[in-house]
Amino acid sequence: MAYATTNPYTGETLRTFPEATDEEILQAIDDAHEAFLSWRDTSFAERAAVMRKAGAILRDERDRYAKLLTLEMGKLFEEARLETILSAEIFEYYAEHAERLLEPESLPVADPAEGEATLVHQPQGIVFAVEPWNFPYYQIARIIAPQLSAGNTVLLKHASNVPQCAAIFETLMREAGLPEGAFLNLYAARHHTETILNDPRVCGVALTGSEGAGAIVAGIAGKALKKATMELGGADAFIVLEDADLEKTAKWAAFGRHWNAGQVCVSAKRLIVVDAVHDRFVALYKAEVAKLKAGDPMDPATTLAPLSSQKAADDLRAQVEEARKHGAVVETIGAPVPEKGAFFQPLLMTNLHDGNEARHWEFFGPVTQLYRVKDEAEAIRVANDSPFGLGGSVFTKDTRRGVRVAERIHTGMVFVNHPTMVKADLPFGGVGRSGYGRELIGLGIKEFVNHKLIDVV
Ligand code: NAP
Repeated sequence: MAYATTNPYTGETLRTFPEATDEEILQAIDDAHEAFLSWRDTSFAERAAVMRKAGAILRDERDRYAKLLTLEMGKLFEEARLETILSAEIFEYYAEHAERLLEPESLPVADPAEGEATLVHQPQGIVFAVEPWNFPYYQIARIIAPQLSAGNTVLLKHASNVPQCAAIFETLMREAGLPEGAFLNLYAARHHTETILNDPRVCGVALTGSEGAGAIVAGIAGKALKKATMELGGADAFIVLEDADLEKTAKWAAFGRHWNAGQVCVSAKRLIVVDAVHDRFVALYKAEVAKLKAGDPMDPATTLAPLSSQKAADDLRAQVEEARKHGAVVETIGAPVPEKGAFFQPLLMTNLHDGNEARHWEFFGPVTQLYRVKDEAEAIRVANDSPFGLGGSVFTKDTRRGVRVAERIHTGMVFVNHPTMVKADLPFGGVGRSGYGRELIGLGIKEFVNHKLIDVV
């Protein structure tokens, strides 16, 4: 795909960027490797100073950074500012904790007289990061803060519709004091994935994106015998039990489904509501969605953004039509959205009975799948009837009951009384078709290090 900045609100293409040549890719691998040879030997304190500085620049210049997010992928300016701050928090988290997270571990051994076994966590080389456009900065921070803190270097292939967001992060890291070559943005073509992953100096790939891209890139990594982490799609269940605070829960549901214009892997995509409160809850939910105001994402009064591109809106419409053909019933909710710009009218989808394959799809935009269930047990069954396993949430006044339900949901993350949350100090990742591996906290920083045993006998 061609790299270009196209404002989804106006439809105007503002800049295009040529794809990298094969020579540029090979040069970038050389440069990232060269940087690795010295970066791996830096102290945690030196790396932490770079992370802190990156965080401070993002905080100080958050409006400038945020504007670029809104320009390239259309998110609300306030959400763009929050994403910029979240990215700063991730840098700060690793500045504070990386050394402790990677401390050598002394292993308990059966007979201490036979020696002393220690596990050390050492950097391995270049990590290739393939990232999506829905959180352009957060996705980069989520991979480079832990990997650089661990002593690896990173090559980035960002989504083709956010080329300036990708470029500004390379500038940010240089301004923060990162040595040249330690983090490079590439306008790579798809075939470059093989070039990069087949190079012995590259130790693995971290991809966030769709199942389709994940399957292809994981396949290339597998053939090259390289480690991969896959952060893929999701269709989070949002369970409403009969003892939930319905007013509050309806607000969270409307927020959970419509922030970032519904384009979040952990959006509350499937509302699963027990029969006893179903009708009341759905009325409250519709009333909350009706409050959303679509418009210019730079305008603070706007609460529903356009999708990231006209193509994203067209593809979603086509997917909804497919679902209708499978028997899904689709109802328009909320106020009408503008005709110009990549807007998408919020929809409520029902009649997703067992056997209707649309119940297993991820709708990446403001389409809410709604399920009426008999009771808690059926809510859990429907929640688990998904190929995905990313996040999920359960709403109940009885938090112990909430935890019991959470334990029975097959996903990587479950929240009680909150839609799935994204934070600098919580892990992120899923199971099933949502991928494998974890990002953030200690799990993320340990994905691409060599857990080496040193045994002194
Ligand atoms: P996508 O089409 O898979 O794109 C993601 C990235 O992969 C982009 O940089 C894209 O580049 C690249 N890519 C696609 N096909 C490729 C290939 N064959 N070889 C190499 N690179 C390839 O995903 P999207 O539609 O932009 O993003 C939405 C999806 O991401 C949703 O399913 C969402 O749930 C998922 N997501 C998951 C998480 C998570 O943490 N689990 C977070 C956010 C989003 P181009 O732009 O050049 O195509």
